[in-house]
Amino acid sequence: MAKLNIFLLVFIVCAPFSGAAGPVDVPLQTIINETGASLSWDPYLEMGELALHGNSVRFKIGVPFILLNYSKKIEPVKVVRETDGRVLFSKNAEEAIKTLFKEKEVPAGSMKVKAIIIDPGHGGKDPGAIGRHTYNGKLVVLKEKDVVLTVAKGLYALLKKRYPDKEIILTRDTDRYITLEGRTRIANSVKLKSNEAMIFVSIHANASLNSHSRGFEIWYLPTTYRRELVDPKSLTSDLQDVAPILNSMLEEEFTVESVLLAKQIESGLKEEVGKNIEDRGLKEESWFVVRNAKMPAVLIELGFVTNKEEAVILKNPVYLKKMSEGIYNGIRNFIDHF
Ligand SMILES: [Zn+2]
Repeated sequence: MAKLNIFLLVFIVCAPFSGAAGPVDVPLQTIINETGASLSWDPYLEMGELALHGNSVRFKIGVPFILLNYSKKIEPVKVVRETDGRVLFSKNAEEAIKTLFKEKEVPAGSMKVKAIIIDPGHGGKDPGAIGRHTYNGKLVVLKEKDVVLTVAKGLYALLKKRYPDKEIILTRDTDRYITLEGRTRIANSVKLKSNEAMIFVSIHANASLNSHSRGFEIWYLPTTYRRELVDPKSLTSDLQDVAPILNSMLEEEFTVESVLLAKQIESGLKEEVGKNIEDRGLKEESWFVVRNAKMPAVLIELGFVTNKEEAVILKNPVYLKKMSEGIYNGIRNFIDHF
């Protein structure tokens, strides 16, 4: 049965199909009967998931697409709910679901990471967080977009060398502005087979009105960013930056893999720069939901550009290199245990 273990999710028995559908629309119950898939249904969000042999189809009433294995979008489709409670799919949605469910079960342990997307935040006209500090009478300005680009490029080089057969993608490799849609498009451009997964690593630096705030931290994504994960005290809203990407993945929960990936990256960073930058830990909400997915994603906040001492570290190429290495080691450990 479904792997979702939250109170919100209940398994419902759909109203029996009476055969009244027109030539276009197919009742959900028919698809379930014919494929043997299991259904989990969230009545609150009107969102459901069909699962069979490790394959998954997510859908939401009124949303014109369905999502196969958390990565492949089929659109446009029709997903509607009739007044009698029946959920109906358009014919093309039914076909996509049935084709997916014909695929053999993916044996545990055979999943492999096919692609790693490294997403340095901001860029170009969007500097991200800015730190202004005076050292020995000299003003030094530190921009988040520069810090994260350096670390991202270092990470890219390490991963590229270690994994020549994987797709390693930087959303930007220069100081240029990318729209949110642009980042989303890059994430969506990766084609995955059913036993392949993609890692998404967004890199940012923090800012705070409190100049004493310091340390690196890691957020699990995709998350409940819509449910106020963003700290209202922070100057930047980095989670909002990647919201459209997360949205495109139609994820509502944290994933087991995201948590593991975040933990590995945390250990990696701690090992490399733990003596210099405090570990603020992993960010989570107490009520979060964990499930299996193929899109582990995290957002790393490297440190605070607004902290005078930390800005010195974030400006130093030696430390930025160490940070790339720390994140790299974390990702490598994650992949080895995936
Ligand atoms: Zn940022």
